[in-house]
Amino acid sequence: MSGLQQVYLGNIYTPQHNALLDRILPRLTPAFPALATRFYDELTRDENARHFISSEIVERRLRHELQDWLRVTLSPHQPDEVAEIIALQRHVGHVHARIDIPMALVDASMLILKQGCFMHLLEAMPHDGELYEAFMLVNSLLEASLSIINEAYLDALVDNERNAQALRGNISGQEIAFEIERVRAKLFSWLSEAMMAIMAGDHLDPYSLQRSDFGLWIIHKLDMVSPDKALVDKIRELLDQVYQRLSQRQLQECEQQATVAMGAQRRALCEELNHIVSEAAWLLADIAEAIVASWSKEDSLTHLIDRRFLGPVLQKETQHALAMTEHPPYSLLLLDVDHFKSVNDRFGHQAGDRVLSAVANTIRHAVRVSDYCFRYGGEEFLILLPECPGDKAVVVAEKLRLALAEQRIMVDDQRTIQVTASIGVCQFVGHPDYLETIKVADAALYEAKHGGRNLVIRKGP
Ligand code: GH3
Ligand code: MG
Ligand code: MG
Repeated sequence: MSGLQQVYLGNIYTPQHNALLDRILPRLTPAFPALATRFYDELTRDENARHFISSEIVERRLRHELQDWLRVTLSPHQPDEVAEIIALQRHVGHVHARIDIPMALVDASMLILKQGCFMHLLEAMPHDGELYEAFMLVNSLLEASLSIINEAYLDALVDNERNAQALRGNISGQEIAFEIERVRAKLFSWLSEAMMAIMAGDHLDPYSLQRSDFGLWIIHKLDMVSPDKALVDKIRELLDQVYQRLSQRQLQECEQQATVAMGAQRRALCEELNHIVSEAAWLLADIAEAIVASWSKEDSLTHLIDRRFLGPVLQKETQHALAMTEHPPYSLLLLDVDHFKSVNDRFGHQAGDRVLSAVANTIRHAVRVSDYCFRYGGEEFLILLPECPGDKAVVVAEKLRLALAEQRIMVDDQRTIQVTASIGVCQFVGHPDYLETIKVADAALYEAKHGGRNLVIRKGP
């Protein structure tokens, strides 16, 4: 969370503004239901918006959610609640990103809300100075919220897009590692040119490294590809050090005209640059390694799909399900191994790993090739069954549950054990945010656990 947002919002929720909000909120609240209705009427008329929202889900959920959001956003808040409000607005932005709703549409929607609030205040309040203040305040609150929502949306979108591209194989970890090798070569060629210029006493732009191919790549691209923020910061710091040293050199060279001491000074600077550059090159190698490791699509223990790719896949499947209403919807199975902790406790972590890998294998063979199996958490798995209604998904889950319970797994040279799993099943709930379907599957899994484990429970539509 950015500190600026905290300060900005904190400045809006002042005691004076809070008092004003206390006065205007009771007048605005009665207008929220009609405002929400008008909002979604306009949105569903919009060509671009229509496929994100079905009228049923608007009726059942979104209209209420919007009213709640308005109420919270336009309520007075104390300084210690600001972080919570920011988290709420960021959450909205993340939901928008999961739904993949265009940002322009969100901006336009905010205008509808703003206008609706203004119209209502105009009717409900005396036309005096307080009305003007109320306009300004509602305006700044909605604007501030919008900017936080959009910022979170963009963060999530970049993540999503990066993962989506990795999944599609457009950029593989290997390709990026190769690119980094090229960047490293550019760094060393900058170094030899810089050292020659320094020794010859030629002019050397302090920004030359920033402006080299290496510098441009570090500044513009590294963020997009590196999973390790700390390494990125470190390498940028080195870039800055080079700039500082070269600026100092420029001053020194101006001050002292050629003396004997200068040769030694130049050599010392070259050594220093050499040192900084080698460090940057090592960091680049570390970054390349981290990228190759993290961009691998599989979870290394189970060889199922890493949960990072859940977002892009479920987003695509959800859009597909909303658009292709004549096809059966997808279903989700959420599977958790029963009493897995005791496997670790009795046989050791390594044996636990073997069990997980065997469970993953059984899962893979129990479903169709077109299904997606994700490692969702430690001993939790999420299986996405495209075009599979809930009743059929229950049959798949039952088959899987039996296969697991019957399987004998070697934990060491002599001993085999059997494990069971509980499975929650849920058909796509119709909400454009796929997390809503996962939540229902999770609730079903919870019931299966509490119902005694080794069970399949279905919830939702
Ligand atoms: P329940 O039936 O309620 O699911 O009981 P449980 O013991 O399976 O549940 P819990 O979630 O409390 O324990 C899961 C354990 O799985 C905790 C953790 O140590 C272990 N675990 C998570 N990831 C791994 C892994 O990669 N390898 C191994 N060996 N164990 C793991
Ligand atoms: Mg668990
Ligand atoms: Mg468990």
